[in-house]
Amino acid sequence: MSNAKVNQGINLDDYRGVWVIAEQREGKVLNIALELLGEGRKLADKLGVELTAVLLGHNVGDIAEELIKYGANNILKVDHKLLEVYTTDAYTKVISDLVKERKPEAVLIGATTIGRDLGPRIAGRVGTGLTADCTRLEIDETDRKLLQTRPAFGGNLMATIVCPKNRPQMSTVRPGVMEKAHYNEYRTGVIEDITPTLTEKDIIANVVKVVKAAKNKVSLADASIIVSGGRGLGDYKGFELIQKFAGKLGGVVGSSRAAVDNGWIAHDHQVGQTGTTVRPKLYVACGISGAIQHLAGMAESECIVAINKNPDAPIFDVAHYGIVGDLYDVIPAIMAAIDDADSILEAIEENK
Ligand code: FAD
Repeated sequence: MSNAKVNQGINLDDYRGVWVIAEQREGKVLNIALELLGEGRKLADKLGVELTAVLLGHNVGDIAEELIKYGANNILKVDHKLLEVYTTDAYTKVISDLVKERKPEAVLIGATTIGRDLGPRIAGRVGTGLTADCTRLEIDETDRKLLQTRPAFGGNLMATIVCPKNRPQMSTVRPGVMEKAHYNEYRTGVIEDITPTLTEKDIIANVVKVVKAAKNKVSLADASIIVSGGRGLGDYKGFELIQKFAGKLGGVVGSSRAAVDNGWIAHDHQVGQTGTTVRPKLYVACGISGAIQHLAGMAESECIVAINKNPDAPIFDVAHYGIVGDLYDVIPAIMAAIDDADSILEAIEENK
């Protein structure tokens, strides 16, 4: 046993396997859980170990099967009345107990509101480190270390962080960054029902009532088409045009931070480092310059179209299609072309 592998009585070789904390809401798996399974599968294969999904909740039976089809070898299913709604105390206790007993080498958690609360608590409880908000994960094949990369210094550089002396290596991962796992209906795995040692006394803060947000928040992370507006819109009224354009394309409205800071649109529309990370099939950036913090949230989109009157705007470096021009001329022209195409298609349909 080399000293490098021993820390405060911890033998790093005792820790094996990759875990994903599979977040669900009201019995539905969140996309982030599928993204973590996709990434976790790659890491587990590189390490030659199994991928385990940890599922907490109440009456969540069907989800366990689903997680296997999405690539997990094993499911640790903890179904308990006290886990029906998320509480920091209960979830931290159950997962920390499992980590201490089973010793995984890496644990991945979504950087969601819940994940950001839960991750550091578990890390503190089991005595390890955590890298928050990772955008890339890799394995150092020489010594099995998890290389955890995240934006640092205001997004101006990417830092790769390792956890050399403690286990498990824990990361929260931004939603929308990693590719979702592929569904394979023939995949099989083992579902283990865990009975937790959990009583009401373990939960200090009780949830009295769950109140859902009154207004429907825009779901950028799940959208396949996003039309975003930036400072180039000139004022808040510009978002009426962006809304119309997004509606015509069947998409949702995003924005740059400049537009949010100007009070033209709510923060939940913001794309980027301090907004939402998105990976839609189509991203249309209108009057957005392409600052590094904006690109950090949308550069992985499948097809990027940029409309900007400055031909040197950095957004054109990542755009697959660039239109140099005033957005107030370009967008109405595109919408008119879509209408023309629609009427041609209708005419063809009628004459069939
Ligand atoms: P600008 O940079 O001002 O660009 C406006 C663009 O519109 C210009 O390229 C201009 O040529 C074009 N334009 C003007 N008029 C027209 C017209 N009529 N037609 C067509 N084009 C036109 N930013 C984010 O977006 N998301 C983030 O999450 C984020 N996080 C940040 C975190 C930190 C720590 C910091 C320091 C900054 C962050 N920013 C973020 C801010 C970022 O640095 C930029 O300031 C911001 O993205 C700029 O927004 P913009 O592109 O809309 O505005």
